[in-house]
Amino acid sequence: MAAKRKTVFEIIMYEYAKLIADRAIEKRSTLAPAARTSRSYWSFVAHTYHKLAAENMSPSSVLRENQILVTGGNQCAYCGTTGVALHWEHIIPVSRNGPNTIDNMVLSCAPCNLEKGARNPLEWFAAKGLGSNEIPRLVMGKLLKVVLEKHRACGTENLLEYPPGAGLDLINTCLVFDYSHLPNEPPSSAS
Ligand SMILES: [Zn+2]
Repeated sequence: MAAKRKTVFEIIMYEYAKLIADRAIEKRSTLAPAARTSRSYWSFVAHTYHKLAAENMSPSSVLRENQILVTGGNQCAYCGTTGVALHWEHIIPVSRNGPNTIDNMVLSCAPCNLEKGARNPLEWFAAKGLGSNEIPRLVMGKLLKVVLEKHRACGTENLLEYPPGAGLDLINTCLVFDYSHLPNEPPSSAS
């Protein structure tokens, strides 16, 4: 069992470790997360996490999701539908300060695009009663990348709570684009 994550950076690295293990142990390449049940899987997660957290491994050198997307994307990144019109969808909505870059975009079918609306994938899946482990790994890999880059730009990657006073969890960590205008203060309203 890995030690408890203590910083924003470590939260993100732990999620990366799961994505890396999905492919290395469970042989999942793009869409579905792995079952994540075997002892060897979690052992690999812990091992990978410690290497990432010590910055001995670069997440971007391991995850090649963007390359897959550029070369062969012909299915909805969220539901896997093929044979329908696909549209570029912002993982973190532009209306919530999500960047207009390829790292923040996936191809999506119209129903998924409409249903997701102005929510990030964590919020959308939570509303469907699904946890972050159900989010397709292509989406999760990109989400983690833009979130980590934003934390680095804001100087918040080593905070022990995010936003300050709100504890430390993945959902709040991924709200950095909502909170980035006040990186060192709690949100003005939690409702
Ligand atoms: Zn879809």
